[in-house]
Amino acid sequence: AQELLIKTEKLSIAGELAAGIAHEIRNPVTAIKGFLQLMEHGNMNNKTYFEIMEAEIERIELILSELLMLSKPQVIQYESTNISMLIRDIVILLEAQAIMNNVGIELDFESDDIILNGEKNQLKQVAINFIKNAIEAMPKGGKLMVQLRKYEEKQLLIRFIDEGCGIPDYVLSKLGQPFYTTKEKGTGLGFMVSKRIIENHNGTVSIYSKENIGTTIDVMLPL
Ligand code: ADP
Ligand code: MG
Repeated sequence: AQELLIKTEKLSIAGELAAGIAHEIRNPVTAIKGFLQLMEHGNMNNKTYFEIMEAEIERIELILSELLMLSKPQVIQYESTNISMLIRDIVILLEAQAIMNNVGIELDFESDDIILNGEKNQLKQVAINFIKNAIEAMPKGGKLMVQLRKYEEKQLLIRFIDEGCGIPDYVLSKLGQPFYTTKEKGTGLGFMVSKRIIENHNGTVSIYSKENIGTTIDVMLPL
């Protein structure tokens, strides 16, 4: 009976996700179809139509790339991963976005060679999601601090501290639910995917947030 229960639960999560995906992808597809029909009826050289269609296709691509992270990667390769270097690489990757938003990123690492057994691409995805969320929470600029601490050589804490808008309780209760977003161009997938990845690494994620003061995300991973 236990097994049956787990199976049913899994199915309903898949069902919920499927409904969400269908809905999220139908909107841009409907828009693209509409513009194609307009063009079919003679509005051939309208540059705006192309621009909107391109933006809508990019939206579908974004949703699909985030969803792909949920499925098991083709090759799951757990390997010794230098987390300090991995985060430094991701910060360089997101630097342009941070600068454009007047966000300064500070790194406070206990050591520059903290090694974790993990799936590199998935761990990168987690760092990208949390750093992006922090930048997006500070539209007027601010500071993002990323800390790395070891506990008794057994646990690793990755802490993301932002000075952003904070997360109100009603959002907090929906966090991790697929497609829940407060952003115009959000997908509402980043947090759920990150949490899933962390749990696959036997880790946990905790959120401390105060509205208009900021948010701290703690990721604990076994070393
Ligand atoms: P998305 O970023 O596409 O909206 P996420 O799953 O990454 O999707 O986040 C879901 C929602 O959680 C966001 O829309 C935002 O409202 C809230 N959120 C997540 N991280 C933060 C943060 N650091 N500060 C404020 N709000 C956040
Ligand atoms: Mg996000």
